[in-house]
Formats: sequence, C-alpha cells, structure tokens
Amino acid sequence: MTPTYEDVVILVIAHPDDESMFFFPTLARLSAERPVHILCLSDGGYDGCGPARDRAAEPWLVRRREMYSAAMRFGATASVVEDPRLQDGGEWDACVVAEVARRGIEASFAVRGSCRRCVVTFDERGASGHKNHASTSRGLVLLRLASESQADSLFGTRFFELESTPFTSRFLGMLAVPVGLVRSRVDPQPSVLYANLDVITAFRALAVHETQFVWFRKLFLVFSSYTFLNRLIEIQRPIMPIHSLR
Ligand SMILES: [Zn+2]
Repeated sequence: MTPTYEDVVILVIAHPDDESMFFFPTLARLSAERPVHILCLSDGGYDGCGPARDRAAEPWLVRRREMYSAAMRFGATASVVEDPRLQDGGEWDACVVAEVARRGIEASFAVRGSCRRCVVTFDERGASGHKNHASTSRGLVLLRLASESQADSLFGTRFFELESTPFTSRFLGMLAVPVGLVRSRVDPQPSVLYANLDVITAFRALAVHETQFVWFRKLFLVFSSYTFLNRLIEIQRPIMPIHSLR
C-alpha cells in the first residue's frame, strides 16, 4: 500500500516553500487524487525580504499568505503554526514538534471525520540538512511511536518520510528519475516513487512564494533531484533516536 490509497494526506513541513522545494512530485500526484492538507510548523522567519508592495505588511504575514496561496495551487489546504518555540533557524525540541504537530494533525483529521489517514514529512536528514527539517522528522517519529497505542488519537495513521538524497546525487535534474528507478530496483527497502517531468509547473508553484523566489532558489529548483523525484519510505516501528529523549 502507498499513500495513494489513503483518504486524507497531511504533509508536515517546517517552512513555507518546503512543499515546492522538496515535495513537488508527491504533492502534484497526491493532491490530484485526494484531499491534502499542508501543516507548516513555522512561518519561516522574520527577515522581511518581501517585494516593495508588501513591505508595509508584516513579513510573517506575507509568508503565511504565500503558504495559503501555494496550497491553493495544488488544490490543497494549509495551516501555519504560530509558536514562539518553533522559530526559523536552530534545532527544535522533538517533543515540542510532536506536541504542535499532533494538534495540527488532529484538527485537520477532525474536519474530515472517519477516514484512512496518512502523514508525509522529512526524514532524519531533512532533505537539505536544514536543522528545522531534521527536527520535524524527529518530532514526527515520536508521534509515530505514540500512535502504536490503540488509545492514541492517531492510532492507525500511516507515516511516510521523504528519503534524503545524498549530496552527490542531489542535483541530477531530470536524470534523477531514471537513476531513482534503477536504484529502487536494487534497494530491497519498500518505497513509493513519485516522478515529475513538468519543471515549468514546479517553477510556478515556487514562484507563489514571492519573498523566497530569488536566483539561488530558482537554480536549486531546476537542478534539484527533489523537483523530479520523491522517494517515500514508510516509518515502521522506528527506534527512537537518543537525542529525542529529552
Ligand atoms: Zn525549509
């Protein structure tokens, strides 16, 4: 079984634009088939680098608005967490991430009623190595552990993580697709592959994040393997990392 067969998918990310920078193939595919909600754990910081017409507005408000617009492009919904403990930058406490993500996931499932549920997020290497991405993964691993109890509100939910691509193969562009297909045949670990060859649509999805649409992100998008291929692996009975035991 893959996330394709779940009724509701929640994508948990750390910053507005993560969904287009790293999860585009997954989002493009899943949002065409079923309801998808994007839960963004922070508003991405307060650096205020928005376009001139937005400078009068609060930067955090601008990025929040961009996140909602980006979700709409996929036909998805989005919510952006506002929590002072989850600010853009350093490491996040995994327990805080688990607590905040649980609230967001439960709220999102509640409006859907009874359904099969699936959560997708980063793996422990965080796709690009960003500490917030890795912290998001650690928090969700805690939730996955808790969900094993039948008394837990997330019991029965399936959790998938985006496999981080090694740096040496992170910028293969479209070549990521054939390379990934070959690799998945020799790697015995069960996985789900989502491929995308439509770089224009991916480019437009990122462009919605006007404050982030700068030259190095444009380059990243064109050459990044994540634009063309996502490999999702189901989190199965994870061993809790020692640094999460705080
Ligand atoms: Zn990010």
